[in-house]
Amino acid sequence: MKPFRLYNTLTRDYTEIHTPRVRIYMCGMTVQDSPHMGHVRTFLMGDMLRRALEFLGYEVLYVQNFTDIDDKIIQRARDEQLDWRQIADRYIQEYHQVRARMNFLPPYAEPRAALHIEEILALTRRLLDLGIAYSTPDGVFFSVDKFPSYGKLSGKKLDDLVAGARVEPSPHKRNPLDFALWKARKEGEPYWYAPFGEGRPGWHIECSAMSTHYLGQPFEIHAGGTDLIFPHHENEIAQSEAAHEHPFAQAWFHVEMMQLKGEKMSKSTGLFFRALDVLEQYPAPAVRLYLLQHHYRTPMDYTREGLEGATRAYGRLVRFLQAIPDFEGHHVTLLPDWMERFEEALRDDLNTPQAVGTMFALLNESYSRRQEGASLAREALTLQTMMQTLGITLPQDTGLSRLSEELLELLIHVRGELRKVRAFELADHIRDELGKRGIALEDTPEGTRWTWKQGA
Ligand SMILES: [Zn+2]
Repeated sequence: MKPFRLYNTLTRDYTEIHTPRVRIYMCGMTVQDSPHMGHVRTFLMGDMLRRALEFLGYEVLYVQNFTDIDDKIIQRARDEQLDWRQIADRYIQEYHQVRARMNFLPPYAEPRAALHIEEILALTRRLLDLGIAYSTPDGVFFSVDKFPSYGKLSGKKLDDLVAGARVEPSPHKRNPLDFALWKARKEGEPYWYAPFGEGRPGWHIECSAMSTHYLGQPFEIHAGGTDLIFPHHENEIAQSEAAHEHPFAQAWFHVEMMQLKGEKMSKSTGLFFRALDVLEQYPAPAVRLYLLQHHYRTPMDYTREGLEGATRAYGRLVRFLQAIPDFEGHHVTLLPDWMERFEEALRDDLNTPQAVGTMFALLNESYSRRQEGASLAREALTLQTMMQTLGITLPQDTGLSRLSEELLELLIHVRGELRKVRAFELADHIRDELGKRGIALEDTPEGTRWTWKQGA
């Protein structure tokens, strides 16, 4: 079996993954606003990387943080006259809703920066002790001149970086590229006690401290959007490698940006971009399919037509599977050639468009064989396995185990019999009790159907 290979921003080449255990750190949201579709793309690709590796037999430890203390969060709290923690909590909750709807697997850890001040202080202390960081009235800065390989991730020389950088000004910096590890306390801002002065952490050090805390150093894959390569990830490398003299992460996985094409930014395109609004308009599995149709290293034009096309394609997939009775029988096996093509695509730098293409090629072939009246249980099982691997669920995926579903059907049948003998009190009791558990019953001429209650 060929190993998984992944494009590595650091080496500008493919890195093969040979270890059975893969630790992944994904830079999560700065929780100052609602998650939008650009966020969804990045975190979906992280989730897909994890699912693909797990499917191929790797053991994955996945960590994704929240930046919950930041200039913009503080500003937002000021504007709304709330505490900064209330702003952070609000958008963490919203992210969790999106995560559940999009079917991202829950991470092994989801640390919040403000709950890891101790690790951040220890790392800052260490960089000060080593003479790589220096203390000023504005806070503690990292001296990029003390880290000779600074710029290796973004592939830039220090001079070019200075010319193009948007850096925070401070009269106390020794080099304009030096960045804050610890920001000195300002009036009206949250702060923590520290031996080198009250203040709050800089952004970059949070991720260095939290990734190493949960995953050790080095770990296998550091992930994030391409917009984070410089300065965020460059600075993470500098801090972590200067402090520990070990490599930080072996491979860097960067997801390209998403752009709105042909739609002017307005209130309505805003609704087309905020993740929860989009998930009101389109089925989440179709949104997932749409994003997976684009390779993570290609900038993606986000369009309504694309999303609608994916919704139709998803409908075809669902209708096909729903029309095949009981394909999960005991003697049904996967189609090995198709599975191999599918796995090969995932193994090759997470080529999700090709994996999706393979799935639909199988679907098309199966549709044509259906005309010939062939039994398509193997095709259906293979398609379902591909969908599950991609995290694309069926709409009637009830979230019940087969046994629970059978017991529920039995209960519905008993209720029907009770109604026939006019034992309505007991029949209604069954309906009410199911209702409390989020299950709605609908009596139709063809019999009683059950559905999940809206919002349950
Ligand atoms: Zn980060």
